Amino acid sequence: MSGPRDWSPHGASRPGVVRRTLPVLLVFALLLGALFYLRDDLRELIRTAPGSARSAVATHLLYEKTGPVGGRCPGLPKDLDADPDTTLNILAGCLDRMWSATLEPAGFDYEPPAEMRLVAAPEEAACGIDDFDWAGIYCSGERIVNVLVEDDGEERDAFPMMFTLAHEYAHHVQQITGIADQNGSEVFDEAWSRRLELQADCLAAAALRNVHPYLLNDLRRGAAAEPDEADAGADAARQSHGSGASGARWMLRGQQKGTLAGCNTWKAPAEEVS
Ligand SMILES: [Zn+2]
Repeated sequence: MSGPRDWSPHGASRPGVVRRTLPVLLVFALLLGALFYLRDDLRELIRTAPGSARSAVATHLLYEKTGPVGGRCPGLPKDLDADPDTTLNILAGCLDRMWSATLEPAGFDYEPPAEMRLVAAPEEAACGIDDFDWAGIYCSGERIVNVLVEDDGEERDAFPMMFTLAHEYAHHVQQITGIADQNGSEVFDEAWSRRLELQADCLAAAALRNVHPYLLNDLRRGAAAEPDEADAGADAARQSHGSGASGARWMLRGQQKGTLAGCNTWKAPAEEVS
């Protein structure tokens, strides 16, 4: 029978296949290379980069559907410093109530952290044992809030620890609502980290703004006045958490606006999260 040949003995058509597919493969490889090279610009173009006002994190429904965070914290002792453990435990209960009430209108069922651990040394924490100096740390996998309460025999100033507790609680909220994981691969990106940390500062200030406004003002002014030290540890902290001045600015926003929307670091221009 004659007609178009649709098979070939001895693999004779092979060179033709290679000749036909090679250019396609080359174009594909070039495209992949271009995509990789331009990935940041493309992300910006389709608005998924942090700092794009329409990125997924910046437009999380929480910003629209929730009202002010906070309120007072009845039951806190008059002398906050006398027994910091008691003060912090009472504040933790208040933070649970505050966040539960704040997230409810957005349809989030708030679950408290699995544990609130007050530690005398970093080694007692559930994570972060090898990290640089911290006053508190949130272990996102275990959902454990840790706050360092050093016992050096002298009277301790409880309010900075209260702010740390509120900051770690903010990380818990970022975690359970998905704010913290919407960028997956960028988790170790320092710019991403600064947005996460400065948002936690802002939310901590929002939560505490009616608990103790004067002490919060003092703490914020202290952060703003912090000299930018030049050593390596301070440098690493600035890279991942932002400068003292940036922290103070976001704290002020939290105090003034009191809302998640007011603390949306994800759509802020890069210079505001430096
Ligand atoms: Zn933090």
